[in-house]
Amino acid sequence: MDEFALIKHFFKPISNARNDIIFGIGDDAACVEVPPDYHLLISCDTLVAGVHFLSTWDAYDIAYKAVLVNVSDIAAMAGKPCWLTLGLTLPESNPIWLQRFAKGLSDALRKFNLSLIGGDTTRGPLTISMTIHGLIPKHCAVRRNGAKPGDIIFVSGELGAAALAVEFLQQPQVDIKDRQLVMQKLLRPNPRVDLSTYLQQYASAAIDISDGLAADLNHICEESQVGACIFFDSIPIHALVKQYHGKQASQLVLHGGDDYELCFTIPKQKVVEFQRELKRNNITCYPMGEIQSSRGLWTKQTDGSIVQVSTHGYNHF
Ligand code: ADP
Ligand code: MG
Repeated sequence: MDEFALIKHFFKPISNARNDIIFGIGDDAACVEVPPDYHLLISCDTLVAGVHFLSTWDAYDIAYKAVLVNVSDIAAMAGKPCWLTLGLTLPESNPIWLQRFAKGLSDALRKFNLSLIGGDTTRGPLTISMTIHGLIPKHCAVRRNGAKPGDIIFVSGELGAAALAVEFLQQPQVDIKDRQLVMQKLLRPNPRVDLSTYLQQYASAAIDISDGLAADLNHICEESQVGACIFFDSIPIHALVKQYHGKQASQLVLHGGDDYELCFTIPKQKVVEFQRELKRNNITCYPMGEIQSSRGLWTKQTDGSIVQVSTHGYNHF
């Protein structure tokens, strides 16, 4: 199957039309309608075989995860994901692989009411590069640079399971049930688009956790020109991470990535109302630290001592 037949056969049929698309796949560029009171958010994420996933994985999972990590970037800005382009580099045109890939892509598009509006298809080492476009009411995007001393730091869910799954890939003896449970967290992270309206209303800064809590919270600190103190005992850690790592569990959470929960800051005077609003909507987020004016990343230990934390996380270079 040649490049054009491949696009027509696998990608055009799954594009998932939205009524804000003037035209999508088939022209040199797509055209969409941006509502007058909104700004456009644009983000790109690339998944490389052997780095972000194994080429032995089901192509369904690879496609699904590629969409999820892109959606997570829009969620981190408090926006709504709308349109996606796909830059697909394949070592060969394998219809069985492409069928699975297209099915995973299609299911993920439908889950988030996203449309595939275009892309590019090339031959080379297996790489999936997506550009996602989202909408945000004008001037409501939550950026990394808004955290102020005294703001309370939250995370949106339990951390560490995805990093544990990566460790398990090297440990064939691990209990199969535990392995499946954490693999699910690695393959199907849950991008927190459900938090968008609350973040727009209450948050001063936000980021999604893709490289580990320490590295990602540090990005907020650097951009906001502040420091942070994490309350060591308040970090929400997945039960299996505690079970397998005991006292070292927090190391995996601080320096292991891929959870795709959000880390965000709420000004102190808004915290009570924010938490009341979450509770009304059956959402749990975890307060686990405070922004401070002195730079650097610190943890407050169980005994009250303050210890500096390394900000290292996953880094490609
Ligand atoms: P061009 O001639 O500009 O290089 P292409 O021939 O690469 O365009 O693509 C033809 C159409 O198919 C374009 O609308 C493009 O956006 C779309 N397209 C190409 N590859 C993909 C893909 N992997 N997924 C979705 N759409 C694609
Ligand atoms: Mg062209």
